[in-house]
Amino acid sequence: MQSAYIGLGSNLADPRAQVEAGLRALARLPRTHLLAHSRLYRSAPWGRVDQPEFVNAVAQLETGLEPRALLARLLDVERAAGRERGGVRWGPRVLDLDILLLGNLRIDESGLHVPHPHLHERAFVLVPLAEIAPDLDVPGHGRVADLLAGADASTCTRMAE
Ligand code: ATP
Ligand code: CA
Ligand code: CA
Repeated sequence: MQSAYIGLGSNLADPRAQVEAGLRALARLPRTHLLAHSRLYRSAPWGRVDQPEFVNAVAQLETGLEPRALLARLLDVERAAGRERGGVRWGPRVLDLDILLLGNLRIDESGLHVPHPHLHERAFVLVPLAEIAPDLDVPGHGRVADLLAGADASTCTRMAE
């Protein structure tokens, strides 16, 4: 079993409900337990700013799935939520599930990069991740709370319950 941190994001089709459904779907993955999740945050779009704001969260799983199997399951969940690929890079999406960290693994393969290559520079990941794991070490980059101190957290605010 391995600890996995997953980033969730949505900015289409009732984003809050999409992220909540995404968390429930993570809890139902085989050989996997949902150990913790952050609250939900509203975030300014990243990469392409001409699109609706996002709802983001981070979940901590414990999983016996191999990295590729976990990725395949996440892509299945995105598809089931109605995500269509082929749009613009970093464009609007119904549900996005990214593997942020997998134990202390470092993976650099075609189609799978862990830790997620942009994790350390994205407030919409660091803010929710710091809520549940401030002392976590991001291999190659350092402690989550320290990374957050260098990010613009004002672009990511907690949603009302
Ligand atoms: P970004 O990865 O910058 O957040 P994105 O989430 O918009 O961008 P997608 O279009 O959702 O990118 O994913 C494209 C591909 O990225 C996926 O099909 C997957 O193969 C690959 N990928 C590589 N590393 C990861 C990872 N750590 N988690 C999820 N997908 C990954
Ligand atoms: Ca993403
Ligand atoms: Ca993705």
